[in-house]
Amino acid sequence: MKEPSIIILVVGYLEENLLRDIQLQLGTVFDPLYVTISGNISAPKKAYNLQRRQYRTLEFMKALRKHTVDKNSKHLGITNLDLYTEGAEFDFGLALQDKNLCIVSTHRLRPEYYWQPSNPQLLLKRAVKEAVHELGHCFGLEHCYNPRCAMHFSSGVIDTDRKRERFCEECQKRIRTKITIQHQKT
Ligand SMILES: [Zn+2]
Ligand SMILES: [Zn+2]
Repeated sequence: MKEPSIIILVVGYLEENLLRDIQLQLGTVFDPLYVTISGNISAPKKAYNLQRRQYRTLEFMKALRKHTVDKNSKHLGITNLDLYTEGAEFDFGLALQDKNLCIVSTHRLRPEYYWQPSNPQLLLKRAVKEAVHELGHCFGLEHCYNPRCAMHFSSGVIDTDRKRERFCEECQKRIRTKITIQHQKT
């Protein structure tokens, strides 16, 4: 039996359908790694900044770290809450490569945030792109200059919509080696 290699943890609330679809699509991108959902954890209260009405990403990382169950697996936190780090307006996500840990926020990926009608397919696409991006960092990838590559940095949803859920050829080559190593560990 294959052991989990990418473990998804929901922080707070996320739609069940969205979560399952993200799991499925990550399974394709990171094949042959196995993607599992490990349940919900509550948002750390002290992460909330009352003035900004946003949550500190690094506090989320600390909370997630307590739930990392397997040192050979990558852990992806997903939250619907609005995240930020000092000096930035917001975070779509963040990765701590040395900790095998990353997080993605769907808050500003939702069309509703921009006063547009709800669009579950678009939200799914955006969430997968940002999840692939942060997991890419966990596997040691840096930002990519190719605007179509999942490793391209998104400063807003326009960038996210331009890129694909996949890695460019160069990034794909780099990550293949890492995935093979990871696969052998589990
Ligand atoms: Zn990045
Ligand atoms: Zn690339």
